[in-house]
Amino acid sequence: MTDAILVLNAGSSSLKFAVYPNEAGAPSPFLRGKIVGIGSDPVLSARDETGRPLPQDDLIQLDPGASHDALISVLLDWLDGHQGGVSVTAAGHRVVHGGTGRTGPARVTDALLAELDDLVPLAPLHQPHNLAAIRSVAARVPGLAQVACFDTSFHRTQDRMAQMFALPRALTEAGIIRYGFHGLSYDYIASTLPQHLGDRAEGRVIAAHLGNGASMCAMRGRRSVATSMGLTALDGLMMGRRSGAIDPGVLLHLVEERGMTVDAVKHLLYEESGLLGVSGISNDVRVLEASDAPEAAEALDLFAYRAAWEVGALATSIAGLDAIVFTAGIGENSARVRGAICARLGWLGVTLDPAANERHATRISTAASRVDVLVVPTDEEGVIARATHALGVTGRR
Ligand code: ADP
Repeated sequence: MTDAILVLNAGSSSLKFAVYPNEAGAPSPFLRGKIVGIGSDPVLSARDETGRPLPQDDLIQLDPGASHDALISVLLDWLDGHQGGVSVTAAGHRVVHGGTGRTGPARVTDALLAELDDLVPLAPLHQPHNLAAIRSVAARVPGLAQVACFDTSFHRTQDRMAQMFALPRALTEAGIIRYGFHGLSYDYIASTLPQHLGDRAEGRVIAAHLGNGASMCAMRGRRSVATSMGLTALDGLMMGRRSGAIDPGVLLHLVEERGMTVDAVKHLLYEESGLLGVSGISNDVRVLEASDAPEAAEALDLFAYRAAWEVGALATSIAGLDAIVFTAGIGENSARVRGAICARLGWLGVTLDPAANERHATRISTAASRVDVLVVPTDEEGVIARATHALGVTGRR
């Protein structure tokens, strides 16, 4: 039996997981997978330590309509039986919101869960699923050491100025502030900067996490100084389906003049906007890049324009720019989007090496470029596994 850490990232209809050896250092996972289609027809897929998909025969059948709770139980049973058996001795969870108080990962206790329940109104689409997964594991394996890792923690180093909205003071004091997200990804990127940049790692760096959700973080001394997301994960960049920052007056107009309900506006902003809304074709950059439709090209151009605009804004918060790091699905894979963003940043000292960009090299700027431009695959699960090992006083089953 191998002592293992189960890393869970629970969403509304998906459950991503990875299984790591419970040991120090930077171990790689011996299993990575996901269950999608939860609530309708759940499907499990997984890859072994070499990244090879496991054959269907090695996977289990999942009952249609099975709850998150039931699926977590099935997953734990399956892991027990997997390849001679792993023994899950700790679990680490991605939790979207840690409020103002959580500046790093925390061991799960009843008191912590109560504190995190109170934050549900700040992240109603994600937090309930994250917390339900923790409770499911606790019910299935009482006493198992569990650790919560927060997407907001990395940004708690920011000055008050970077976290405030220009709203009446009472709202600020009540917690209506910019929390920022994708912190586990930025934590990982920050940890890799010295190996890529040497002393410049401590300088002025903007990390661009461009996935289905997209944000940027301006760092100095490898700590967050400012970020594009705000109270919610709706702010900032244009995303796959989300609008990103828009004039708040648009919301008033939609409600007052068009009679839209709050739910309809929410759906519009979270599900029908962004690349999907502008193109009318897809939220997926791969599909848009393959399309000849002018609307697809316009959606990609707007995505790049908004991203470059945000780099300019964030560069102000760190008084200049030494490096840009692209990461996540789009940042790691789309040479076209990276190229279009960098083409707008010559004035900041960015000179792209087109050939290096096409082959997704780690450094895609020219030797003469004043700003280093890097492509670094993110590893949020690895951050959670390491934090869980460090904090998780192992609880045996
Ligand atoms: P999530 O926020 O769900 O973790 P990812 O970081 O996995 O998202 O990013 C998913 C997105 O990355 C896809 O919707 C797609 O737009 C983009 N993407 C993935 N692979 C490629 C590729 N090879 N070329 C261009 N874009 C890609």
